[in-house]
Amino acid sequence: MNHFFVTPKDIREDQVLITGSDVGHITRSLRLSAKDKITVADGEGNKYLVELIRTTNEVVEGQIIEEIERKVESTVEITLIQGVPKRKKKMDLIVQKCTELGIDKIIPIITERTVVKLTDKKANKRQDRWQKIALEAAKQSRRAKVPTIAKIKDFAQMPAVASDDLALIPWEDEDTTGIKEVMQEQNVSKVVILIGPEGGFSQSEVNQAKKIGFKPVSLGARILRTETAGITAVALAQYELGDLGAMKQLINS
Ligand code: SAM
Repeated sequence: MNHFFVTPKDIREDQVLITGSDVGHITRSLRLSAKDKITVADGEGNKYLVELIRTTNEVVEGQIIEEIERKVESTVEITLIQGVPKRKKKMDLIVQKCTELGIDKIIPIITERTVVKLTDKKANKRQDRWQKIALEAAKQSRRAKVPTIAKIKDFAQMPAVASDDLALIPWEDEDTTGIKEVMQEQNVSKVVILIGPEGGFSQSEVNQAKKIGFKPVSLGARILRTETAGITAVALAQYELGDLGAMKQLINS
């Protein structure tokens, strides 16, 4: 069943109004019409089964049949703070795969060893590009929420670690603590994962991260590419603390 995102203001009582590029996709590409069913999410965690009632070239109107349980979103809120890779396609992959894995937020950061140099204009364009990839991946994975892709920040501007966050810095030089032990801490509801770019973190960046509450963890003896490390760490967090590998929730899919 095809899945679309609207904003809360497009939902009035039990009716949904779809506008913009999705209208053409629904009416011309998918050739859907009145009585056909789709699922719609409002981007804030609510998901609905909707029956189309009217389609025109500009707008598609639907009748909400029922709210679909929120089981599609993870119980763990995961933020990935990702050193910006050299090639934008690598970040495209990280955004797409982490969206499928249920991530909440991605904060791209510039570190001492990031190679890419971005003007403000280019940085804004990259953020738009990655936000669009997150939307498409959220549609494809039928999520109820679209992850937020934040503005590119400097390492020094990283958000503070809250006391109830499990903040991890996967670091290839860490040889005493594996991610498994740390992941099995109980009652974790928010995980923050900090991944370096291709050149990794400098020692002073690791020291700074530890100072503000990040725990260094190993992802094993092999050196993972930056895009592999981010996706793997998010998947491990979801598996240990979230819903990856949990019984599939029947959500009228
Ligand atoms: N310094 C690395 C090297 O020796 O080639 C390069 C960094 S690695 C390509 C990019 C990032 O992935 C690292 O900053 C780290 O966050 C993460 N990473 C890769 N392999 C890891 C491992 N085995 N354990 C923990 N983190 C790892």
